Amino acid sequence: MSNETTIHAGAAVKPFVKHHLIPQMIFFTLGFPKGSFISIDVTDQCNLRCEHCYFFEQEQEGTLDAEGWESRIKDLKKKSPFLYNCTWVGGEPLLSKAIIEKCKKYFTSNFVVTNGTMPLPDWPDVRFHVSIDGNEAAHEKMRRQKGLYQLMKKNCSREDLHVTGAMCVTSMNVDTIEEVIHEWHSTTHLKGIMFDFYTPIQGLSDDLWIGWERRDQTLDLLKNLKKKYGNFIAMEDRVIELMKSKNSKKVTSNCLFEKKGRSMTTKGTVKEKCMLGPKADCDRCGCVVPYYLHYRVEKPTIVQETWNELKKRTSLLLKNEL
Ligand code: SF4
Ligand code: SF4
Repeated sequence: MSNETTIHAGAAVKPFVKHHLIPQMIFFTLGFPKGSFISIDVTDQCNLRCEHCYFFEQEQEGTLDAEGWESRIKDLKKKSPFLYNCTWVGGEPLLSKAIIEKCKKYFTSNFVVTNGTMPLPDWPDVRFHVSIDGNEAAHEKMRRQKGLYQLMKKNCSREDLHVTGAMCVTSMNVDTIEEVIHEWHSTTHLKGIMFDFYTPIQGLSDDLWIGWERRDQTLDLLKNLKKKYGNFIAMEDRVIELMKSKNSKKVTSNCLFEKKGRSMTTKGTVKEKCMLGPKADCDRCGCVVPYYLHYRVEKPTIVQETWNELKKRTSLLLKNEL
């Protein structure tokens, strides 16, 4: 190995140890550090009033401005030095772009969940999740407005940004899953779609809940469709398995979203339970987050991820591309 290659290899090993190996060892031994991720309801405003919205079922208590959020986030980071990830929700978070613009620098990773009705800001460092509620007819019925679907496709098909779809499966759209995957896969620049199930919320209609049998069938369908669409279905097989009726309770009765994260109200106070709020029915939780977090701290996942990362980096190093 030449001296130059030795130096190059040394420089490549450091980020691997710092950004991958050390965090994975912490996950392996301690799990997620408490307070390492938060969700922020950045605004109490939304330009829509969807059929299934949990947000407007919650008490709203006023909002913080950009300076208020900056100081709140600094406080949180003092209490939780491992805080690295923020999911910006609402309301429609892009109605309060200035707050996200000012505060996203405090996190290593930022997700913005949007209804896609506004052009996406040019933020290549952020991951956007656009809500897709089924095919055009189902989406516009759920969202109670005509013309939204094509507008959302236009705004969110951005090759220069990282945009993923998020489909919340309900009794109104469950029959359109394959059509949605095919359409967005073949006509847009979306990186993939992940799937949630409607979580019953006290005070909202239970009609949108599809029942356990249908949920298990849908999860099998997604597993099968992965054979055709690969990672465009942005869910690991293990996460799909964990969401099934036989495994769900073990995940939700020890929900890592609730235990290790914080969900902040528009006023910067901590919400009970999770971003879905205190009225969510945990036993029928369909949110993908607790299942994904559970998967991330399972030991076989950590070993596999570390091995994959090591293989990827070694191959790049050998090609002199790292
Ligand atoms: S777009 Fe989101 S926040 Fe707005 S009403 Fe619909 S579900 Fe609620
Ligand atoms: S609704 Fe789901 S994500 Fe929220 S606290 Fe309950 S189990 Fe966790």
